[in-house]
Amino acid sequence: NTITFTIERFDPDTDPAPHTETYTVEVNEGARVLDALHAVREQCDPSLTYRYCCGSGQCGSCSVRVDDEPVLACMQEASDGMAITPLNLPVERDLAVEMKSYLQEMGGITAGIFTGYLTMEANEAIRPIRDCIECLACVSECPALAVTDFAGPTAMRQEMRIALDPRDDRDRAALTVDEGLFTCTTCQRCLEVCPKHIKIPGKAIEKLREIAHREGLSLPRHEAVAEMVR
Ligand code: SF4
Repeated sequence: NTITFTIERFDPDTDPAPHTETYTVEVNEGARVLDALHAVREQCDPSLTYRYCCGSGQCGSCSVRVDDEPVLACMQEASDGMAITPLNLPVERDLAVEMKSYLQEMGGITAGIFTGYLTMEANEAIRPIRDCIECLACVSECPALAVTDFAGPTAMRQEMRIALDPRDDRDRAALTVDEGLFTCTTCQRCLEVCPKHIKIPGKAIEKLREIAHREGLSLPRHEAVAEMVR
């Protein structure tokens, strides 16, 4: 099969801004977007930069946007005329975006709690929000994150996951209020784009808000405290 498609390219050392290149490559029937990217490297331009690892939808490292929708490149069928662009995150080079700082912040959410045993009940409660593969599709598409200090959908998911873990004793609802819990508009975009179909709005955001309301924390924490002393 011969397919022709575009890729947004950007080399921070030489390009003042991203630009679009068109490629025509030979691929097998049923080729995935990731196969098409490999074909560009092999047949047209070995400098094309993108991330991938497992190739089977389990690691989240190959996420890109195809025709303006985030996908895992290893799971999406390649098509003639597709437009491949990076996630809406700072671009390091071509389709490789800066994920490390966000994932480090996510790591900080869980730091120090994983000692001892998780109960069966807690494990069951956590199950619906556990299987994030850190593809950052939800972070790429979140409109609240783009315009506010909101920590982002999967950070909220991780906070709720830990809130359900009896080994953790921090006030997760209070922490998430400070991280922008109430700036999320529950637009459901994170659920639409999540390859693991994690229901972040219903299973994390709304639950954290319920806890925050019970604790009288419906305003950002410093404002709630200011209200109390007025
Ligand atoms: Fe990706 Fe879903 Fe995890 Fe967001 S919650 S990073 S979309 S797997």
